[in-house]
Amino acid sequence: MSEEILRINGLSTRFFTEQGQVNAVEDLDLRIERGDVFGIVGESGSGKSVTARSIVDLIESPGQITDGEVWFNDPELAETVRDDQPEAVDGDFVDLRQLPDETRRSLRGTTFSMIFQDPESSFNPSLTVGEQIAEAVEVQQRASANPRSTRARTQSEEYSLGNFVLSTMLPSQKYVTEASRKRAIELLEMVGIPDPVERADEYPHEYSGGMLQRAMIAQALAGEPDVLVADEPTTALDVTIQAQVLDLLSDLQEETGMTILLITHNLGVIARMCDRVGVMYAGEIVERGTLADVFDDYVHPYTEGLLGSIPDLEDAGGRLDPIPGNVPSLLDHEMEDRCYFADRCPKAMEECLDHPPEYDAEGSDQHEVRCVLAEMAYDESRAVPDDWFATDDRTPLDERDEITDDERAIEERAQTQIEESGGETR
Ligand code: SF4
Repeated sequence: MSEEILRINGLSTRFFTEQGQVNAVEDLDLRIERGDVFGIVGESGSGKSVTARSIVDLIESPGQITDGEVWFNDPELAETVRDDQPEAVDGDFVDLRQLPDETRRSLRGTTFSMIFQDPESSFNPSLTVGEQIAEAVEVQQRASANPRSTRARTQSEEYSLGNFVLSTMLPSQKYVTEASRKRAIELLEMVGIPDPVERADEYPHEYSGGMLQRAMIAQALAGEPDVLVADEPTTALDVTIQAQVLDLLSDLQEETGMTILLITHNLGVIARMCDRVGVMYAGEIVERGTLADVFDDYVHPYTEGLLGSIPDLEDAGGRLDPIPGNVPSLLDHEMEDRCYFADRCPKAMEECLDHPPEYDAEGSDQHEVRCVLAEMAYDESRAVPDDWFATDDRTPLDERDEITDDERAIEERAQTQIEESGGETR
């Protein structure tokens, strides 16, 4: 039976910029099950990557997680924390956001690991790939062997605190141990790098894009993470290599049983890899559910738009059907309290001018949608006029057909002039 590994409640992340407060992630709820591949999909600028970084606790200034809870299912960690911080523990779950910085840092790599979009800028060009992976192994092993760590996966003498202190004091002692180097080669082999012993001694510029992405996956696996966050892991690759990297991730997931949070703008990648999916727009998950819920029983017009913009392979000459308009500004003072998709939505109605809550939708019990269409059918008579979002005129719709006092005065004046001129107009 599946169990939840992550329970995220009301997560909000803001960036405090010179232009104003940017609401990159807004009141986000997410449930992820152990061993699942959960996909987050949306256009660029919808908040996917910030969501991933918020979960892994990698938000840097001027960004800040301003609210929310990240509950992680780890009985061992819960036991360690329970006495000192009972408020941060709920059964086997621990709210990572309530833990001290040091403890949270120790979980990076071993509990959560991340693959970034651009492998070239993620590797140091002046060190060999093998050295960099070995260093990741070393850091994770030493962190785990540290008696102050909340997780002690290794008791190896090689990674003891004493050895670490010696390595910092004696030039003859190397920080990266032979065991870590060996493990780095094993990891390179695991991700399908040919001749891993020789390749480990090569520099990042000697690797192709696909190989470097594999090497980055090897580095992310160094700490045997429970949750791997893959942020657009195939964006920079050509389609053949994309497929290979996705297959590799699938195989590794099956082999290790780890949970993967996959961030992508590509619904094809979601269909190929994921068990469950969340569609993200303007910092919110607007539709979530199983693949069948989102691909077959979608409710949200944005989901429909994303699906409609996938090229049809059987109609090679056909035109793409993009979603008109752009993602909205996430500056707080420019966000109106309505459905954020309303200005691009072909089904916007009066009801959409209030911010919609999440509704249960038909399909699995996990199918939820932030759209009034989950509760009512589209009613053309209640449609928002086309020009509503294009102007600054925000007269309530039910008053829009009425003539304002100024308009009435102008009309009366015009009528009087016509009467005074004997009904003649120029
Ligand atoms: S709430 Fe209204 S405007 Fe928003 S997506 Fe649904 S139908 Fe469209």
